[in-house]
Amino acid sequence: MPDCLFCKIRDGLIPARVVYRDELCVAFEDINPQAPTHVLFIPTKHIATVNDITAEDREAVGHLFIAAAKVAKERGHADNGYRVVMNTQRDAGQTVFHIHLHLLAGRPLMWPPG
Ligand code: IMP
Repeated sequence: MPDCLFCKIRDGLIPARVVYRDELCVAFEDINPQAPTHVLFIPTKHIATVNDITAEDREAVGHLFIAAAKVAKERGHADNGYRVVMNTQRDAGQTVFHIHLHLLAGRPLMWPPG
């Protein structure tokens, strides 16, 4: 098992503000929020990058979007909107190598993001 920050958050070894958890995913507040809502959704299973997703991960990865939409709706972002994004490798700015879906909301979000 790799030495993974988000696996440690999943396992409660490193503190995080967990906002949602079920058998397939864990969601917690980003430590350096870029918007009023900035929550990270990780699969329970360690997957390093989008490149490493396999067909057997279909349910777990799809589930991240369902969980993100649930939290977005609960926080009142369904109508104004929100962004879900998964950075992959260096050029996209991936810094933690356990896939995570960013949920960003609560302010107008620029496009393209940079
Ligand atoms: P990436 O750049 O797409 O890999 O996103 C990694 C995200 O993890 C960044 O938005 C960081 O602010 C966030 N992050 C890093 N360490 C922690 C932590 O310990 N708790 C919560 N979020 C973290």
